[in-house]
Amino acid sequence: MTLKARLFDFLLFFTSLAVAFSLGHFTIDPTTFVIALLLYWVFSSLYYQLRIISKKNNTSFDYGISYSLSFAIFTGTLGLLLFETIYRFTVYLTKRWKNTADPGELLDVFYNIGSFVLSNSISYYLFTLLHPGFQHIPFGFWILMIFLVCVSSFLTGTFLAIVLYISGDIKSRSETIEFIFKTRSFMDIGKVAFTNGLLLLLLEEGKWEMIISLFILNYLVNRSFVFKSHSIQNKIERDKFEQMAYTDFLTGIANRAYMDKKMAELNQSNETIAIVVADIDKFKRINDNYNHAVGDRVIQHFSTILKSRLNYDDYLFRSGGEEFTLFLRNRSFETSVALIETISQDVMSNMVTVEHHSESIPISYTASFGLYFLKLNDDVSIGKGYVYADQLLLQSKELGRNKITVKNAILKTDNQ
Ligand code: GH3
Ligand code: MG
Ligand code: MG
Repeated sequence: MTLKARLFDFLLFFTSLAVAFSLGHFTIDPTTFVIALLLYWVFSSLYYQLRIISKKNNTSFDYGISYSLSFAIFTGTLGLLLFETIYRFTVYLTKRWKNTADPGELLDVFYNIGSFVLSNSISYYLFTLLHPGFQHIPFGFWILMIFLVCVSSFLTGTFLAIVLYISGDIKSRSETIEFIFKTRSFMDIGKVAFTNGLLLLLLEEGKWEMIISLFILNYLVNRSFVFKSHSIQNKIERDKFEQMAYTDFLTGIANRAYMDKKMAELNQSNETIAIVVADIDKFKRINDNYNHAVGDRVIQHFSTILKSRLNYDDYLFRSGGEEFTLFLRNRSFETSVALIETISQDVMSNMVTVEHHSESIPISYTASFGLYFLKLNDDVSIGKGYVYADQLLLQSKELGRNKITVKNAILKTDNQ
């Protein structure tokens, strides 16, 4: 934080003191004040543990619900100042105790007190000014509360934006304006307005049990929300890792590990399936004649062709370097063979353009295939089928490459 930003923190703090003292006078009896202060202090501090922190570069701030508005209106601005001071120092000391305080955290305490006391003092002043008029319209009290929360959240947002602007975390004026208006949602505003409205009404009637219940309800609702969002976040991350573990980075398609997993799953079924092993011919030559990067481009090209012809139900895996395995599903033997013939034609007729020595050059290549058509059952596993398909691929290679060798295990006759 720059010196300028720190000066602003203190300017805000002393302005808030001046405003609180000039508007402040205690009108409620001391016992009521002490009980209210204790309750607000305990529940605000509890609530602080649930805050959702967002970080913008070096500055972190939280969007936890604030109960300051109802306290300000009920006890006046001096009461608010006392509450904010006790509450913010409690938060600070808890962090110090847990060793989670940032180096400049003590100065943030003054900033927070200043920001919340000033903005809610202004809301308090507006309440005393506007409440008589709003009393007579339907839902006037609630409309006023929403309006006041908008005002105080606009003010705290502006103070924060100024600090971020001075310290360089927000660069442009338009970013500042966007920050002020976009960081708080209508939902946040509604939550704060209705909670503070209810608290205020209950405070005025001295309904302490209901106040405590409302605090507890708020705490529980938020706690379960935070808990759920954490578990959702965990699941998202788990899924992401799983997806990464099963994805081949070069081609973006499923890898060998995923193939093993799917094979285990398919073994539980009685599906009729065509297992195809596809391998680029004389691929080593491409690597040797050009380079590894060119080889990579060819592998990607091949995988794109294979993928483009498949249905949603089919599986495609990169099972080795330039070898791919396909599980064709819900197809007859004839349509499976026809599909592989089409793919083989695609490979022959589509050249791949690669960058080599700063030149774009077209490369043509071919591929060989082995196709084994079978019905899975307890005696024939998909693993065995894969071995047979691989042997058929080997036959294609031996027959001179750029060939398709097939076997229909259901009819038990060879079709070459
Ligand atoms: P064949 O027609 O018999 O299949 O001959 P081939 O040259 O294609 O087969 P071989 O198995 O002899 O060579 C495959 C080469 O693929 C060897 C290996 O260095 C290369 N390779 C494996 N993975 C990659 C990769 O991810 N990128 C590149 N560029 N090359 C790879
Ligand atoms: Mg090869
Ligand atoms: Mg190979």
